Amino acid sequence: MLCFYNTLSRKKEKFSALKKGIVKIYSCGPTVYDFAHIGNFRAYVFEDLLRRYLKYKGYRVLQVMNITDVDDKTIAGAKREGIKLSDFTKRYTDAFFEDLEKLNIEKVEEYPRATEHIPEMVELIKVLLKKGFAYEKDGSIYFQISQFKEYGKLSGKPLSDTQRPTWPPSSAAGEQRREDADEYDKENPADFVLWKKAKEDEPSWPGPGKERGRPGWHIECSAMSMKYLGESFDIHTGGEDNIFPHHENEIAQSEAATGKKFVNYWLHCKFLLVNNEKMSKSKGNFFTLRDLLERGYDPLAIRFLLLSTHYRHSLNFTLDGLRQAKQTLKKLNDFYLNIKSYLHTGGASKLSFKDRIRRAEEDFEKAMDDDLNISSALAALFDLIKDINKAISEERIGESDLREAAGLIEKINSVLGILKFDSPKEIDEEERRLIEQREEARRKRDFELADRIREELKKRGIILEDTKDGGRWKKVS
Ligand code: AMP
Ligand code: ZN
Repeated sequence: MLCFYNTLSRKKEKFSALKKGIVKIYSCGPTVYDFAHIGNFRAYVFEDLLRRYLKYKGYRVLQVMNITDVDDKTIAGAKREGIKLSDFTKRYTDAFFEDLEKLNIEKVEEYPRATEHIPEMVELIKVLLKKGFAYEKDGSIYFQISQFKEYGKLSGKPLSDTQRPTWPPSSAAGEQRREDADEYDKENPADFVLWKKAKEDEPSWPGPGKERGRPGWHIECSAMSMKYLGESFDIHTGGEDNIFPHHENEIAQSEAATGKKFVNYWLHCKFLLVNNEKMSKSKGNFFTLRDLLERGYDPLAIRFLLLSTHYRHSLNFTLDGLRQAKQTLKKLNDFYLNIKSYLHTGGASKLSFKDRIRRAEEDFEKAMDDDLNISSALAALFDLIKDINKAISEERIGESDLREAAGLIEKINSVLGILKFDSPKEIDEEERRLIEQREEARRKRDFELADRIREELKKRGIILEDTKDGGRWKKVS
């Protein structure tokens, strides 16, 4: 039974899709003002694992990830370089897609850009104004959180009376607490901006009222998710820092506008840390993917490192950890290539391994069903590898079981996405003849000839191993 930990209910819940057979997911994407760091990619790799596992379970997935291409930081970046906002954000959007590919992250179905969905955001703000959840002040428009009684249900930050803003703003109680920065005080609930009045030299669009301006960050995700996935959908994801205020605000805007439950399951991944601090641009303790690739690290080892710790546990990043991930990955790759190159042996298993392989598959699924428990899932895989390696060295396992084990690894890799599957090298006709001649020589106990042929084959990168059932070969280069 597939279960996820739901941030909204603070417990694990059985997963059930709104529409049979299809899962609709919205994942908060990058703000394209710089290269993404591998902390960001922890979130994207987690979302990719979730997506791939749902597909493995037979669901069709419709996933949307926004590209935030207008906000305080992108505008400041374009200004600094004296170029158009769209030219500035294109550079980092392109880089983002290149990085996704390197990390073997599947493309999702839609990547809507904020600047291409301003009319949808304006419409949503108009609804909020009409229903009395929003107000205008000095040309900007704000969401009035005191009007949305369930504000705080995701993050558990209730609006205590002291924090509750007063209304009207000009009342004797003083000026209302109101925020229009895209990133603001992460602790205190506040009325947040839906539409920012245009400033000089900033890109602007026609707004819900008289004023040109640009949307706030939160409204972007509400408008674009509902456009592509409907007013209610299955799963919304992000990093833990998205819970408040971003996702809390998304719920408030969307549910205030539609009167319907916005999202059924909220999944958040914990941070990637460096020396026990969040990896982030502002702290300067980050590696971009590009930094690591330039230093010669393997992108799939980075992917493996990022996904091999359960998404609800913090992961402390070290280069040493990355080197270990590379070693483990190599073991897995070698094992796969090894069993593929033994597939021609034709021998039968002494004892069938079918049950053992099926058990590994069941254990993998049981673990992943339990809120993507990757550590147990990987343990199921590596236990099987240990048993098969032992059986190979003891010559107890034959072709059909090896074929089945290779099939299971391919199936599991459709979820993990960490193996490249270079197909094992094939031998040509002449090499096949040489192998047969050597077998023949061995049978006739002409060991001198057998050794000479073995040497010749070695020069061609073919390694021979003699077993009780005859020779087997592997081409290594
Ligand atoms: P940002 O560009 O800062 O909005 O971040 C994009 C995504 O990366 C969001 O889902 C964030 O929650 C996530 N994120 C940022 N830093 C980290 C980190 N150190 N570890 C995990 N996720 C992160
Ligand atoms: Zn978002």
